[in-house]
Amino acid sequence: MNSKTIELPENVELLLVTRPENVRYLSGFTAPEDALVVFSPAGATLFTDARYEEQAPTESRIPVEIVNPREGYAFLAPYLGGKTVGYEASYLPCARLRKVEAACGCELAPTEGAIEAARAVKSPDEVEKIAAAARLADQGLARILPLIKPGAVERELALELELWLRKNGAEKAAFDFIVASGARGALPHGVASEKKIAAGELVTIDFGAVVAGYHSDMTRTVAVGEVAPEMRRVFEVVLEALEAALAALRPGMVARELDAVARRVIEKAGYGPRFVHSLGHGVGLEIHEAPFLNPRSEEVLKPGMVVTLEPGIYLPDKGGVRIEELGMVTESGIRLLSHAPRGWLEV
Ligand code: ZN
Ligand code: ZN
Repeated sequence: MNSKTIELPENVELLLVTRPENVRYLSGFTAPEDALVVFSPAGATLFTDARYEEQAPTESRIPVEIVNPREGYAFLAPYLGGKTVGYEASYLPCARLRKVEAACGCELAPTEGAIEAARAVKSPDEVEKIAAAARLADQGLARILPLIKPGAVERELALELELWLRKNGAEKAAFDFIVASGARGALPHGVASEKKIAAGELVTIDFGAVVAGYHSDMTRTVAVGEVAPEMRRVFEVVLEALEAALAALRPGMVARELDAVARRVIEKAGYGPRFVHSLGHGVGLEIHEAPFLNPRSEEVLKPGMVVTLEPGIYLPDKGGVRIEELGMVTESGIRLLSHAPRGWLEV
């Protein structure tokens, strides 16, 4: 188990962990969809079935019990019976909840976010895995830049990039890659399409790799030849917003304050309403996890958190620009994990 403290909600003695990312976090077991963890401050146990009899004890950092789920949840009774047990309200379907209750004679209380809060601050080992995924992404981008030219198909670029990442050590793509060229760049989530790239367009590429369960996330926007002066200006504004946020980031800051730093730059340039999403998010076992950096977020930035900063401006029918960096909050600011050049690039 990770050495960081996990704080249980006051009213519960134990936590029944069913969210796969949390099961993996607590145990290291790589098939967490087929497992659950009973967690208490004194210790934790992983439960899974006979298919994993060999795999689970090799991978898990906590004791493993092999159980037969077809026999219901009676196996939990010795652990949960007579106790007040927290369950993850968003990750335990009602039917399963009723079965646990019936089999264990325990009192079940809904909880939210106990493990997620601990996950937000990474251990050095976790940071190293994210950094490895980010390094692969840097290299992958360098490989596909020469392929970005008039006539290239967005989807083929995405495929080439994913293929390169997987051939070079990524266990999978971090998500469906975004390759959005020309007017499609105005779609913040423009997953790669059949569109052909044309001269004079901006191309936004948002992608990442997964290494040992941990994600990376990076966006670059490049120009295919000379683009309209307005889009060049939009690029400069987004870059300025990103650099302002990178320079302002300090531990102890409330996330919404950092969002405001970037948003102010974009508002001053007159594009406030066109920055339609949050500044960034935490990255780890999930591509989007705590902390969330948005105008309402009261989460406090702490050393060891790994976050993205990704301002963007999207102009309908014209195109868009987003630049996204990934880094770890340090005692004095941020240590970048993504290293690809982020300035203006014409291919
Ligand atoms: Zn991204
Ligand atoms: Zn992101």
